[in-house]
Amino acid sequence: METAKILDGKALAAKIQQELADTITASQPKIGRPPGLAVLMVGDNPASAAYVKNKEKACAKVGIASFGRHFPTQTSQSELEAVIEELNQDERVDGILVQLPLPKHLDAISLLHKIAPDKDADGLHPVNLGRLVRDEPGLRSCTPAGVMRLLEEYKIPLMGKQAVVVGRSILVGKPMALMLLAANATVTIAHSRTQDLKTITQNADILVAAAGIPGLITAEMVKPGAVVVDVGINRVTDSNGKSRLIGDIDFTTIADVAEYITPVPGGIGPMTVAILLQNTVFSYLQTNSN
Ligand code: NDP
Repeated sequence: METAKILDGKALAAKIQQELADTITASQPKIGRPPGLAVLMVGDNPASAAYVKNKEKACAKVGIASFGRHFPTQTSQSELEAVIEELNQDERVDGILVQLPLPKHLDAISLLHKIAPDKDADGLHPVNLGRLVRDEPGLRSCTPAGVMRLLEEYKIPLMGKQAVVVGRSILVGKPMALMLLAANATVTIAHSRTQDLKTITQNADILVAAAGIPGLITAEMVKPGAVVVDVGINRVTDSNGKSRLIGDIDFTTIADVAEYITPVPGGIGPMTVAILLQNTVFSYLQTNSN
């Protein structure tokens, strides 16, 4: 088979950011302020620091004001809860996000519960997850929503298709499966206890890999003509001692089998950031719609 077509997340993310910038330019004179996003980071995890920097850079580009705060590792749960409470009340802030993972002494789940559901830019609050389960409008988890938007852009049919999601985290796998289900795909979720993963993935018209294991999905696990989406981001060191990012799929060999494929980097990573900005602008417009 010919080499698969690339689902270009980087290009679509740039297009979405331009549209958001135009929306903000048009709305700001009426609303009297720009949208605001607060990204909270605790500790010095280098990967998290890079992600936060990326998000703030993207905010600046489209005209979203950043209210981010960086806290030392030893910050207590109650201090962070007080900051979230303050941001919930701050009328300049439309979106709040806690960069994960957090240092071990902190309870991420109860912090996420403190965020006002309508400022939950990451779509991880139980109210927003409940809205997703019920198929109601609401803020959606950024990564799976980014996958859906990319599939939509390339007009990939989902209705009645067999979709397999590898991974069942609250962040990616579970909301991904629910979104594909809402689009009328027939969805199977695989995880670390799944037996004979290959037999399951071989049936997938749409295969989403979100396990965080480099090279987990190989060419013989993919149905010819499938659409393969790689959510995984794994930092590996190659034989020359150089560090680079790879996904969960064996890109080169799968590109000869699949019809569509996402690259890493340049696939779902930029889409995740674009949806985060979109969620923030959505809250901004909702809050100021009267
Ligand atoms: P988690 O570690 O929370 O979840 C991984 C999931 O994969 C779990 O459900 C786990 O199963 C499953 N899994 C692990 N090993 C296997 C296996 N051998 N076979 C099948 N399933 C397996 O990770 P996240 O969901 O947070 O992230 C997944 C990947 O996506 C990571 O590489 C992460 O860096 C990346 N990511 C990328 C983003 C982007 O913007 N592109 C955003 C967020 C994450 P079990 O539940 O049984 O443990």
